[in-house]
Amino acid sequence: MQSAPYSTESNLVLRVKDLKKSVVLKTGSSVSAKKEIDLVSGVSFELGQRETLGVVGESGSGKTTLLRALAMIAPPSSGRVELNGNVIFDNGKVQKFRRGQVQMIFQDPDSSLNPTMKVKSIVAEPLVPMKLGKEEVRDRVDHALENVGIGEGLVEKYPTQLSGGQKQRVSIARALAPSPSLLLLDEPTSALDAAVQSQVLNLLRDLQSKLNLAFIFVTHNIFVARYMSNRIAVFYSGQIKELGPAEKVLIEPLHPYTSTLMAAFPIPDPNARNILKSEIIGEAPSIINPPTGCTFHPRCLYVENKCLTEVPELRNIGGDRYTACHFAEEIASGNKSVTRAGPTVEISPTQSKDQISGLP
Ligand code: SF4
Repeated sequence: MQSAPYSTESNLVLRVKDLKKSVVLKTGSSVSAKKEIDLVSGVSFELGQRETLGVVGESGSGKTTLLRALAMIAPPSSGRVELNGNVIFDNGKVQKFRRGQVQMIFQDPDSSLNPTMKVKSIVAEPLVPMKLGKEEVRDRVDHALENVGIGEGLVEKYPTQLSGGQKQRVSIARALAPSPSLLLLDEPTSALDAAVQSQVLNLLRDLQSKLNLAFIFVTHNIFVARYMSNRIAVFYSGQIKELGPAEKVLIEPLHPYTSTLMAAFPIPDPNARNILKSEIIGEAPSIINPPTGCTFHPRCLYVENKCLTEVPELRNIGGDRYTACHFAEEIASGNKSVTRAGPTVEISPTQSKDQISGLP
């Protein structure tokens, strides 16, 4: 079980303690042939107002499952979730939870916006369960659209009449209408072209500051994660492998998995350590039969016997940095040699800034 890793100084919005999401899969033809599979396990963190936790990791690492669990779309299996000081999930059950408090924004607005509804109806949709008067609904819709820069000329349009950027702005307006305190953003700009992506990212940052929102921002793009996040959680096999301030995690990764992830996205920062980073080897682990001990051990260049049998806890290794590796200190200080041959790549700290395509 991973420990609660972080306490924020700002006003606390979200506290997640030992969250687990599991599913039961049939493993054979008999009725009893079933196995419980953990999609996300032992996840703990806290999040404050105006704070963004970036969540990075490969496909299938549990990032979207975490968001869906926190939105109570597919509630957790166990653990505890507090929102603004109120328990919304505990003892295996959803407690007092108003869906509008937590809103999710999806990657592809084409599939998340109903093509048969006009913009104004789409934005008003999440207000229906709140049973508000007509005037308040109209005010909230107008205000949300104004906040995202969608003018009156578009409110009677259908999604198919909008550009990709306009559609995602409508998605954001719909999320804002019920006045949430937490936005869960699942790759919200990856379907947009670079120039529009930059505009939407800046809009989100402005809205966060203006409305005191907390964000959890899932992305495959390390540069986007760096631009948007205060802290970053690195996900692997449904667990947090590293957690800490975005700059530190990305420029001086502590966990071998973070290093391999970063090898695909060299950070163009003159302060980045010019270390030899390994390219990731092998396949992502099976969720049905995950590796024993450290789930990264089949791919880790530093693996030791201990890693095959003992699960590394997410632990504080100084300051505000947390990692789940038995040998993090030795690896970071250069005092541990690789124990397995693998492909490597030299990372230069002087990459061109042009590599951050689409970002300001
Ligand atoms: Fe690698 Fe062992 Fe650390 Fe896991 S615990 S990341 S296998 S060195």
